[in-house]
Amino acid sequence: MTTNPTGQRPADLPERIRHWIGGELLDSADGRTFPVCDPVSNAPYATAAAGARDDVDRAVTAARAAFPAWSRLGNRERARVLYRIADAVEAREERLAALETFDSGLPITQARGQARRAAENFRYFGDVVVALGEEAFRAGDQQINYVVRSPVGVAGLITPWNTPFMLESWKLAPALASGCTLVLKPAEWTPLSASLWPEILDEAGVPSGVVNIVHGIGEEAGQALVDHPEVPLISFTGSTDTGRHIVRSSATHLKTTSMELGGKSPVVLFADADLDAALDSVVFGVFSLNGERCTAGSRVLVERPVYEEFTRRLAERAERVKVGLPADPATEVGALVHAEHYARVLEYVEIGQQEAKLVAGGARPAHLPEGNYLQPTVFADVARDARIFQEEIFGPVVAVAPFDDEAEAVELANATEYGLAAYVWTSDLKRAHRVAHAVESGMVWINSHNVRDLRTPFGGVKSSGLGREGGAHSIDFYTESKIVHVMLGEPHTPRFGAS
Ligand code: NAD
Repeated sequence: MTTNPTGQRPADLPERIRHWIGGELLDSADGRTFPVCDPVSNAPYATAAAGARDDVDRAVTAARAAFPAWSRLGNRERARVLYRIADAVEAREERLAALETFDSGLPITQARGQARRAAENFRYFGDVVVALGEEAFRAGDQQINYVVRSPVGVAGLITPWNTPFMLESWKLAPALASGCTLVLKPAEWTPLSASLWPEILDEAGVPSGVVNIVHGIGEEAGQALVDHPEVPLISFTGSTDTGRHIVRSSATHLKTTSMELGGKSPVVLFADADLDAALDSVVFGVFSLNGERCTAGSRVLVERPVYEEFTRRLAERAERVKVGLPADPATEVGALVHAEHYARVLEYVEIGQQEAKLVAGGARPAHLPEGNYLQPTVFADVARDARIFQEEIFGPVVAVAPFDDEAEAVELANATEYGLAAYVWTSDLKRAHRVAHAVESGMVWINSHNVRDLRTPFGGVKSSGLGREGGAHSIDFYTESKIVHVMLGEPHTPRFGAS
């Protein structure tokens, strides 16, 4: 096994990452594994079990067996378990962050923030489940309808490699709160932090089989979960192409699906905005998390009078962002997750140089000769039909373009297939709301960065997704509603011929 040359290899790295099924750590039924690399050395540091149909089947069987007891637990009892999971995650913040940083290349300070957010997800959904009630609809004093919500059964959760543990928690917490048992398929490029779930969930007292984890390649393990007839629901976060494919496959069993997909989110910046604040927000919004953020403001549309000045300042700031070893607390942009992804992002940088004007970055930083590093990169004068304007790059690369009036700003903001997030910067309150309403996206932030209130629905329109997660929306998603009608007075006995 190769040693990471940067000395940031965590002491407790496992050599083998296994499935967790029915409370047991298991190899794949057919013994196959796949290598897992870190993004600094690009050398394999471990192998992970390569799950396939048989492993998914074992996991679904375990989840089905655990379902009756878990789903019948009272709301308060389930909430207590969620609070204990939050405690167990918090107690491991440093370890979790170190593993995530090593595996995904996220800067350590940002990985710590993601670990805290994962804990918050469980605490929040614990609160939600305590507050859950059912609705009744009276019709006069003789009839009443009430709605019962029941967990759907075994939920299939499929997650991507960006902020992997946090995004897993964003699905686990509401699924468990709703009373579902589940099978999680983590992303194959970043399976490491998921290897902490067994000890976290055991410590919190989650019964065996309630949560099962099957590692593996998407087309095999993920597809087997999507195809499994006893998994009625798939919650997916990942790329738009995979999302489309999963929706098509899910049609066979008419599964409930939630799709949190890609984005190419616009920042619409008017000349009357607080430019200093907007600049801070744009820099953080597109370069933090290495630019591997679904809601990254990766298209910056700037009103003509301040276009030159803002672009120049953005380029200067981009040059000052600290790219470095993910484990170094001073690092602001770390290493991109995988050599394959790095090559794809570099290809976009090359394309960008033919399509637009490179004003910052565009190359590997000279002080980092190895690893998947890229200087924060800014392209100016980007035309709307340019590929770097239209396609999700998912790295520290931003496209900047000018606009002349509000109508053109909205038109440009809406000129891609995506519709996840948007950011509006202006001091004109009326215009801020007009633009927020006109922009085609699931979420808009006005004079603000991507601040999340977990009660609000998260999700996108157009090619950015289907459905919403967050707050009551998540509970709706993981449960089925049923209405029961009761006649309180004389029985209702309709007869043919009676009017
Ligand atoms: P991806 O689609 O390649 O993979 C995501 C997951 O799907 C992985 O676990 C993968 O193994 C699995 N998968 C792949 N093929 C599958 C198949 N045929 N059946 C079932 N599962 C399959 O995405 P990625 O590259 O890991 O993630 C990056 C993407 O995720 C970006 O597009 C990003 O915008 C998006 N994303 C969206 C959100 C959001 O909330 N909207 C959040 C984070 C990331």
